[in-house]
Amino acid sequence: MRTIGLIGGMSWESSAEYYRLLNEETRRRLGGHHCAPSVLVTVDFAEIEQAQRHGRWEEAGAQLAGAARTLEGAGAELVLLCTNTMHKVADAVAGAVGVPFVHIVDATATRLPGRKVGLLGTRFTMEQDFYRDRMAAHGVELVVPDEPDRTLVHDVIYDELTRNTVSEPSRAAYRDVMARLVARGAEAVVLGCTEITLLVDQTDCAVPLVDSTRSHVEEAVELALA
Ligand code: GLU
Repeated sequence: MRTIGLIGGMSWESSAEYYRLLNEETRRRLGGHHCAPSVLVTVDFAEIEQAQRHGRWEEAGAQLAGAARTLEGAGAELVLLCTNTMHKVADAVAGAVGVPFVHIVDATATRLPGRKVGLLGTRFTMEQDFYRDRMAAHGVELVVPDEPDRTLVHDVIYDELTRNTVSEPSRAAYRDVMARLVARGAEAVVLGCTEITLLVDQTDCAVPLVDSTRSHVEEAVELALA
């Protein structure tokens, strides 16, 4: 099995989830005491969050490209950027290394049961072109929440989930947002932020939920074993 490199810390709450899922998925496939050979680089999310807030994407991309090079130098044979939002600078990160970069949108799009799907994520992911265009290349049309739902979804990510807080009122609010996406024709809902899986699960939604974190991990394990 190839060694999987993880660029984590965005936030560490979701990186912990990646680590658990990666090893569980490997155990599920290989059995016994198997786990996934991996290397993790954790960046300081405070720096990344500041860069996002001030639109310094290039600077953040350079930092993440450096993290990818560190992973490659440490023996990673695949690289995962463990956040949807920072896939805005995926090209800079993928271009920094010679090993394959596993793109979270490709991994998620290929696991969708429908072509018209709801999207929950940060404001950057829900509103900017990088995510929408990459999904469209897979023939997927995204339905994003209207305001004020987008603000709510974004704020819960930054004020709670990336601060290790999972609250029942936010779960209920997300349930309502997803119901409104379904009412607008969404055939499935993408959890397009790597922490949302900590808050909701399939019991909270009437249509299939596709988690970007799990999809990304499954794709990585599949590639690592190929
Ligand atoms: N983990 C989140 C995502 O998947 C948000 C944190 C970040 O801004 O990187 O988009």
